Amino acid sequence: MTKSVDDLARGDQESNDQDSVHLEEQAFGDNPLEVRDTDHYTQEYVGGFVDKWDDLIDWKARYESEGTFFIDQLRARGVKTVLDAATGTGFHSVRLLEEGFETVSADGSPQMLAKAFTNGLEYGGHILRVVNADWRWLNRDVHGEYDAIICLGNSFTHLFSERDRRKTLAEFYAMLKHDGVLIIDQRNYDSILDTGFSSKHTYYYAGEDVSAEPDHIDDGLARFKYTFPDKSEFFLNMYPLRKDYVRRLMREVGFQRIDTYGDFQETYGDTEPDFFIHVAEKN
Ligand code: SAM
Repeated sequence: MTKSVDDLARGDQESNDQDSVHLEEQAFGDNPLEVRDTDHYTQEYVGGFVDKWDDLIDWKARYESEGTFFIDQLRARGVKTVLDAATGTGFHSVRLLEEGFETVSADGSPQMLAKAFTNGLEYGGHILRVVNADWRWLNRDVHGEYDAIICLGNSFTHLFSERDRRKTLAEFYAMLKHDGVLIIDQRNYDSILDTGFSSKHTYYYAGEDVSAEPDHIDDGLARFKYTFPDKSEFFLNMYPLRKDYVRRLMREVGFQRIDTYGDFQETYGDTEPDFFIHVAEKN
């Protein structure tokens, strides 16, 4: 049976865990706090964590909270072709296809892409055009030019060196048409870094069933622990990006105008947003 994202929004979400055949497990070695390496993401998005990712992000809740924010941003700029550079399990690729955007779905994790492909078929019968590509060598592996590139779901945070961040932004810039737009989101690490580890915050997903909380924070590492209802635990090691630092890098790579939104709002004042969204225009 196929389901559309609209069906999901009406509450028709079912687990498709039984479809999954991923067997590898996450590997952080003896000193997980020393794992600060861009290449390591391919060993984090594996096995049970890939299977559980959709429980964590909860498509229905996400559909409702995002609304048409990204669709509106793209339509306002006349976008027709989109590269979803961090496809993950395919939430945005499916959303874009449903809205009629010509979409290519790239990711560096083959396990995530396999799940995305299955999800595309299940949620609306879409055949995703998937490409296994690392952002640092995107132009080598993905062909064509795009009106827009999206890199969402706090993905850019997986890059651990400034060199990798600059290289990735340069690859994105080169794949965009002359008036293209790049949209990157990120967790609000400024507030986590500034309020300190002692006041650690637990983020609840999927209606409090799944929690994400900082396990370790320092200037060079944000290690988060994800706990699921069956008590299974998974981890992600990420680089805690400061908002203004990301804006500066985008500017330095050549983007001319960068608007940053907090939790989908243009102005964010008293209440600290959990997420920032940077919309960067090339022209
Ligand atoms: N965008 C999806 C979402 O919002 O649900 C997935 C987000 S997930 C946090 C991050 C994704 O980025 C993973 O699927 C991972 O494989 C991918 N990723 C991380 N670093 C990457 C890199 N250097 N090149 C390509 N993909 C990468």
